Amino acid sequence: MAAPWQDVLRDAAAVQEAAAVAVDAALLAGVLMRTGEQPHASGNNPTAVLHPCLQVVNYAPFTLLPSAVPRALFEQAYAVQQDFNLLVDAISQNEEFLEQTLASTIKVDDFTARLFRIYMQVLEEGLAQTVFLGINRSDYMFDCRLDGTAALRQIEINTIAASFGGLTSRTADVHRLVLKVLGKTEEASHLLPNNPAKGLASGIAKAWELYGSQRAVVMFLVEEVQRNIFDQRCVENELWNRNIRVIRKRFRDVFEQGSLDGSRRLYMDGQEVAVVYYREGYVPQNYDQQNWEARLLLERSRAVKCPDIATQLAGTKKVQQELSQPGTLEKLLPGRPEAVARIRATFAGLYSLDEGEEGDRIAATAIAEPDRFVLKPQREGGGNNLYGEELRQVLEKIKDSPERTSYILMDKIKPQPAVNYLLRAHSPLQASQCISELGIFGVYVRQGQELVLNQAAGHLLRTKAIEHADGGVAAGVAVLDTPYLV
Ligand code: ADP
Ligand code: MG
Repeated sequence: MAAPWQDVLRDAAAVQEAAAVAVDAALLAGVLMRTGEQPHASGNNPTAVLHPCLQVVNYAPFTLLPSAVPRALFEQAYAVQQDFNLLVDAISQNEEFLEQTLASTIKVDDFTARLFRIYMQVLEEGLAQTVFLGINRSDYMFDCRLDGTAALRQIEINTIAASFGGLTSRTADVHRLVLKVLGKTEEASHLLPNNPAKGLASGIAKAWELYGSQRAVVMFLVEEVQRNIFDQRCVENELWNRNIRVIRKRFRDVFEQGSLDGSRRLYMDGQEVAVVYYREGYVPQNYDQQNWEARLLLERSRAVKCPDIATQLAGTKKVQQELSQPGTLEKLLPGRPEAVARIRATFAGLYSLDEGEEGDRIAATAIAEPDRFVLKPQREGGGNNLYGEELRQVLEKIKDSPERTSYILMDKIKPQPAVNYLLRAHSPLQASQCISELGIFGVYVRQGQELVLNQAAGHLLRTKAIEHADGGVAAGVAVLDTPYLV
């Protein structure tokens, strides 16, 4: 499954030259992140106090060369995305399923419990929201089977704040240039166009239009520290291109300036908000008491939340595990056997650690053979899962306590590594054995019961060195990449 440039990677001088071209191309194309030294600023910002010696932006980490991806698996991932959109949307409307599935989790996991309480509260009050917008990213790895072939295996589906759709809209151009510099002009012409930023914006624009108020704005709900602001700006600018006003606010701004009118329209300092697009709010650290109140205010409002709280809960690891149980997909998507089959074909083994015999058995197996599994808590954002010896120790400790229920177990996916160079600011150029994770962005819009938009909106390939078991780009482990179909 190697890409046709493994020969080039052995030519140190050519690699050096290509890396210099690549970095400049990334800077020119805007594949950027704010640096850790000045995370609040991008330079030339009159409101920020900048230290003159500190750098404010740099290129986002990326691979020197595109990575090989089996064409059949790439196409399979695209082909199942509309099914996943339907599935997430169905789960978000199924109160009984969410309640039953998360019952054991919310007893021991405070964060999920708090989200669930807001969910219950808005249901009791009755939803004011009538238009629903989902933006998700389904992530996969290519599992290497005994016969040497690869299989597409879903890692997870992200239903809130799925990132890098913006920056990755610009990485294919960088890689195209690098391939040309390395004499691979023919191969360069085969890199696929990819523009998730445009696809995500078209979903947001549709939801804005159906909300039906020309004056209303789209609000990006952003982090306190916005290192990945350029990724968001790509989507934002697509909206401005369509003459849709965008504002950027934090939870604490909502707490201070947000209000609802008699029909639960959301206002920020007098400005009506049609769509709230969350790029924050998916980990416990995003919340203090005020922020929880702000979240509740947003959820109670008529504004289109992307995602609404039910859709965020649909993306929990516990729900993912429950989906793999026999019969569950059929119940959630009645009358759609083909969609069910396509979805199921991407599942890896997933196991409940709920109290009982089945949980005891799988816990014992994982303790005996930890390298076969990944232990996952109900968290997002990378760096939370447990592997190998650490998995064994933690599971050994909690195996007889209710805390076990806050985790799920998953089969560990083992892709075939390939050599690449990871370009990271201030890091030496060095070849690494790497594995990749493919994400497909999905967008859908529903008005009442009618699905008015359901699309795959582009892809993201992230690659990391094999010594890291866990972690994404934001966590400083994976880097942006472009698929080269083989
Ligand atoms: P998060 O919500 O923190 O992103 P993920 O389920 O995506 O959680 O896991 C984080 C990372 O851990 C993934 O990007 C992947 O690199 C690795 N990982 C997760 N599940 C598996 C698995 N079953 N096999 C191998 N690696 C995995
Ligand atoms: Mg992930």
